[in-house]
Amino acid sequence: MTQSPMSQENVMATNPYQQQKLRALLVDDDAFQRKVIGRTLRDRLSIDVFEAGDGQEALDLLSGDRSGFDLVLCDLDMPVMDGPAFIRHFAPLSAGARLMLLSGCDDHLLGSALALCQAYGVNPLGALQKPVSAEAVRQQIDQMMVERHGTDRASPRATDISLEEIMAASRNEEFEAHFQPKACALTGRIVAAEALARWRHPLLGILPPYPYFIGQLEQSGNIGGITESILYQAVSACREWHDHGLDISVSVNLSQQLLQQDVDLADRISEITNRVGLHPSQLVLEITETAAATEIGPILENLVRLRMRGFELSIDDFGTGYSSLEQLSRVAFTELKIDRSFVAQMLARSDSRTIIGSSIDMARKLGIRTVAEGVESREEWDLLKTLGCDEIQGHYLGRPLPAREFLAFVEGINR
Ligand code: C2E
Ligand code: CA
Ligand code: CA
Repeated sequence: MTQSPMSQENVMATNPYQQQKLRALLVDDDAFQRKVIGRTLRDRLSIDVFEAGDGQEALDLLSGDRSGFDLVLCDLDMPVMDGPAFIRHFAPLSAGARLMLLSGCDDHLLGSALALCQAYGVNPLGALQKPVSAEAVRQQIDQMMVERHGTDRASPRATDISLEEIMAASRNEEFEAHFQPKACALTGRIVAAEALARWRHPLLGILPPYPYFIGQLEQSGNIGGITESILYQAVSACREWHDHGLDISVSVNLSQQLLQQDVDLADRISEITNRVGLHPSQLVLEITETAAATEIGPILENLVRLRMRGFELSIDDFGTGYSSLEQLSRVAFTELKIDRSFVAQMLARSDSRTIIGSSIDMARKLGIRTVAEGVESREEWDLLKTLGCDEIQGHYLGRPLPAREFLAFVEGINR
């Protein structure tokens, strides 16, 4: 199997932000380290660097800053406020800035610190061991750019985009579903697709959900509109695949905020599949447990009703702190998605392999299908197949594509 053609997720030439320099905040109590790392960032990578000597100073800078940072590099071991405490305070102030951890300690501890980030709702860019090389930082920044755009071009800051702009874009129907294939691990045939929201911005090109719009819509209680739009597009696309003789199901992400705030959700989803003429068993609803979900009653009411109507339910990001085992026993989930953070480390770390292996065994005993996300190489695919994983999703198989390109892609592989 070869790498799929990348979709044109490019920023148009008119992008007014393109010439902007990246801004980084460097937090380290050691003045010498700040000098060395700061010089590397400024001289070798042309980044605007701001410095703080401990966590508290960094928080003051973050809360007083209006322009927004792209990157925060933070040492773990500091006096006054150390790295772990800083991580706890960072989430609500981050405004889209990505966190990179720096430390002199071993890999295992850095791994725990990354887990701590996830537990506090921070999506870390990565961790670097000191001494820090320009090349290592550059690689992480490249990754950040690819995650933002699917290209390595400079991109707008999330703080430059207001909620009003996002809501207007929703009214203008600028949000579209792109589809990422999922293949049977054994045969390589494409059996399903996940719908992922993209913003076709008139000036900035295609923008991904984070950090540009999903977080803002969820936090402001406005995730309903875009969800229905993506659902409708996904269900319609799936109907079209079936009309072309392709037996492929479709997955849509549902946030817990919505499940919690709208007890009529299951009815409206049924109304959409009825209208389009798609059998409920062809729609998988992927649910991630988030820290913000407080009212479990309405969430369970929606999930039970969705299962009663015959929709499939998937537990997303399994293994990342919030997605607890308890969820599996409380609700009749039909699919378990192993988070890509485990897949990314599985070749290098035996503990990640163990977690993946036992998740797959447990799912099998419960009669639940397993999907591994973020598969980026043949080696990862082979190992997952050996461990008994049912389905594979990730860049190795294919990136998310607009509906039309997706159909052509599947026809190329499945026929
Ligand atoms: P998710 O549900 O965990 O989706 C998987 C993410 O991993 C997607 O990012 C996908 O593009 C990315 N990905 C897939 N394969 C690979 C790979 O091999 N390597 C790497 N590095 N990444 C890979 P995306 O599209 O940026 O979406 C991010 C998150 O935004 C999703 O995470 C999901 O939680 C949320 N999201 C996307 N669309 C919607 C939506 O319509 N509604 C809601 N509520 N959330 C959405
Ligand atoms: Ca998902
Ligand atoms: Ca995930």
